[in-house]
Amino acid sequence: MIPKRFALFSSVSVAFVFLSAASCNRVETETNPLLAEFETPFGVPPFEAIQLDYFKPAFLEAMRLEQQEIEKIAGNAGGPTFENTIEKLDGSGLVLARVQSVFQNLNESATSERMQALAKELAPLLSKHADDIYLNEALFARIKAVYDQREALNLESSQDRLLEEIYRSFVRGGAGLTAPQKERFRKINEELSLLSLQFGENLLKEAKRFKLVLEDRADLAGLTDPQISAAADAAKEAGLEGKWVFTIDKSSLIPFLQFSSKRELRKKMFQAYVEQGNHGDELDNKDLIKKIIALRIERAKILGFETHADFVLDVNMAKKPEAVYELLDKLWKPALEAAKEEAGELEALLKKDGAGNELEPWDWWFYAEKLRDKKYNLREEELRPYFELENVRKGAFDVASRLYGIEFVERKDLPRYHKDVRVFEVREADGEHIGVLYVDYYTRTGTKRGGAWMSSFRKQWGKGEGKTAPIIINNCNFQKPAEGRPSLLSLDEVETLFHEFGHGLHGLLSESEYRTLSGTAVARDFVELPSQIMENYARDPEVLKIYARHYETGEPMPGGLIEKIEKSAYFNQGFATAEYLAASYLDMDWHTLEEPPTVDPMEFENRSLKRIGLIPEIVVRYRSPYFQHIFSDAFGYSAGYYSYVWAQVLDADAFAAFKETDVFDREKAAAFRKHILSAGNTEDPMVLYKRFRGKEPSIDALLHRKGFDN
Ligand SMILES: [Zn+2]
Repeated sequence: MIPKRFALFSSVSVAFVFLSAASCNRVETETNPLLAEFETPFGVPPFEAIQLDYFKPAFLEAMRLEQQEIEKIAGNAGGPTFENTIEKLDGSGLVLARVQSVFQNLNESATSERMQALAKELAPLLSKHADDIYLNEALFARIKAVYDQREALNLESSQDRLLEEIYRSFVRGGAGLTAPQKERFRKINEELSLLSLQFGENLLKEAKRFKLVLEDRADLAGLTDPQISAAADAAKEAGLEGKWVFTIDKSSLIPFLQFSSKRELRKKMFQAYVEQGNHGDELDNKDLIKKIIALRIERAKILGFETHADFVLDVNMAKKPEAVYELLDKLWKPALEAAKEEAGELEALLKKDGAGNELEPWDWWFYAEKLRDKKYNLREEELRPYFELENVRKGAFDVASRLYGIEFVERKDLPRYHKDVRVFEVREADGEHIGVLYVDYYTRTGTKRGGAWMSSFRKQWGKGEGKTAPIIINNCNFQKPAEGRPSLLSLDEVETLFHEFGHGLHGLLSESEYRTLSGTAVARDFVELPSQIMENYARDPEVLKIYARHYETGEPMPGGLIEKIEKSAYFNQGFATAEYLAASYLDMDWHTLEEPPTVDPMEFENRSLKRIGLIPEIVVRYRSPYFQHIFSDAFGYSAGYYSYVWAQVLDADAFAAFKETDVFDREKAAAFRKHILSAGNTEDPMVLYKRFRGKEPSIDALLHRKGFDN
């Protein structure tokens, strides 16, 4: 399969150090387990046999092998055909894919300083390897020759899609450019990757630089016990034993804003957060933004697009910036109205508190918590006993069993890379093997990255006898409880587990003949449909009744509590939506520029937010100097931050289809499996969606879910 051009690693290096291929000797490659087929059940990675030292030689050899395959395809004496060029490309690079997936997954979930250093060392090498393939003229000439005669080829629809995807990724990778353009194109990419890395590194340093150190117990007023003990641990780690340390990392910041009754301290934390990358010093990101925007515009124009957004959206469902703005506009008005109403309610609470007269941005979370308690009488702590991790995991798996008739069998005999990881074999109802699912739910500070994600050790592809079964992994970052204590999740965390499991099903139930088109390799604004639809299941009353059971008594969650969850669904939706949409507008405004901006980035941002009328009590979810989603390549959401809400339209509409009859409607589930989960990228996403739903998605279900339709 052709390598991904951008964002090969989530952490990459600034230094372009090239390794010497000579360091890879024959003896090493012959005994290197990464270079042989894995002789384990289902071919899962033999973790205990893999040492860090094996990776570098394995990568070098795997790149050499792929280069060899590419040269063979490009130098084929026969005329270019679908089989000898496109199909061969799809099946190339298998060894590199194997080595890379093991490395990447371990580097994210069980890394070390040495491993991170190796990742940095390898990144430029892999990027050059990708460039060498994309800019191989003989290869592209063959791809183009096949593409140009596609009308006459009578290809099946998935073959046609494969041809189009491969051709398009080469064109987008610069293959169709003239020699001087190619040179400039390489240079732009190189500069952009450096700027993007710099952008992220500045923020890491910013996050480290700020600490709120509290010495007086009175300053902890309002904070919860777990928060206080985490802050004490953080202080200990920083050599400040006996004090309490809070940071602008969101996992520290948001709970602080929710619970600290010290208004001045909330203000201090909040301002430190929103001023990241904007101090006019060596960590300031504003100049980088200007450079990144200018280079993206130049690259888009070289490739024949008017703007960077046009370039990005061309391969998404949205296709054009106008379609994105249209969706944002539809949601913006009701979201802003709801947010204004919420601001009024919160300000009334603030006044009653005697804390002042005007609600400020750092007050929002604090009074929102009070409002939640007052309005819905719902506290997170009431729910946790019903969300014990094992019950929730079983609940998610059970939903899939009811919908698709599939089964999950724990396999304690399979190799794992950490003792907390669990492995399940996934089977059809008749016992046929589907794939393997690894779940790694606990946080491990220092060796596992934050957040939650799905990834794979091996993608599904092929058919019949030659079919390759998928090996999928789900990662979360839940707090590991003390020995003998239960792991009790928040509702948010429950949704996260279901979400990643949804991505997991997309990878597991894939049935694509071609690797390039398999599983989650779909458009960015479509990929969150299978994951987000599972969030609907997580909080659906029918489903809660099944899996949400008290961890001690086994009693199902009381109806009153389920009702509270249902009612509180509208809670704070104005704020959450407005904060998010404002960031989506900002992203689009930056990336629909046809010329580099002449004004200061903050001035540009102010104008953008003023135009939509964002209220002063709400700050855009990410201000430009720390908007990593759009300015760091590793995040990859430039002109794509809208994708989440785009997919929300889809998941709300799709779930509404189930709600019309039964959340476990087997017929609809079969259609969802066939047209969405199994189909991968074998057809245009809108075509697939309409096949499942019988019509185009409507925004109504989403408006209803957010309470914006009354
Ligand atoms: Zn997701």
